[in-house]
Amino acid sequence: MVEEKNKCEACDRNFKDAEGLAAHNKAKHPELMPKEKNTLPIKKIRNWGIFIIILGLFAWGVYALVTASNSFDELPAAEINIGSHQNIALHIHSDLKILIDDEEFLIPANIGILPGIMRPLHTHDSTGEIHIEGPYARDFTVGEFFQIWEQTFNSTCVFEYCTIPGVGEMEMFVNGEKSESYDNLILRDGQEITIEYHSF
Ligand SMILES: [Zn+2]
Ligand SMILES: [Zn+2]
Repeated sequence: MVEEKNKCEACDRNFKDAEGLAAHNKAKHPELMPKEKNTLPIKKIRNWGIFIIILGLFAWGVYALVTASNSFDELPAAEINIGSHQNIALHIHSDLKILIDDEEFLIPANIGILPGIMRPLHTHDSTGEIHIEGPYARDFTVGEFFQIWEQTFNSTCVFEYCTIPGVGEMEMFVNGEKSESYDNLILRDGQEITIEYHSF
């Protein structure tokens, strides 16, 4: 008695065993053959796909990390937005005092702070304390603070007060010592910076 389970679905022929049916299918109906051979490459392709996606995500993560630290390293402070006080690895303070003919010039609160923007150099009050903050350690200059403030400071002028023979002189002191660094001075923790202008 030939078992019905070994019947070819396509041409209704009965075979005495599964091998006979398989041999018939292989010869006459290759499309009916079990798809085992095909599932292997599909699995392989899928695994490779997953591998490539993971590799891509990893490469993207490394790239994002490197470009974030690069842009923090390379951009002028006025073009950096640290967003908030979160993830602050760098947090130091310098004190800035500006004297115009012995009168202290008020350095306003919230320089470098706008809705949705926090520059790495900013003030929180009008004491002249400059906060130097960011997700990575790097150097900033006092000139960058003036850029954020949108005020002039260079080797000859503070605001509109300039060193002009016979008119007046601008000088800079760092921790009480006269400095020629001017706007290129690198801000350090605990530094006392005084900019003085004297009319003659
Ligand atoms: Zn601070
Ligand atoms: Zn701050």
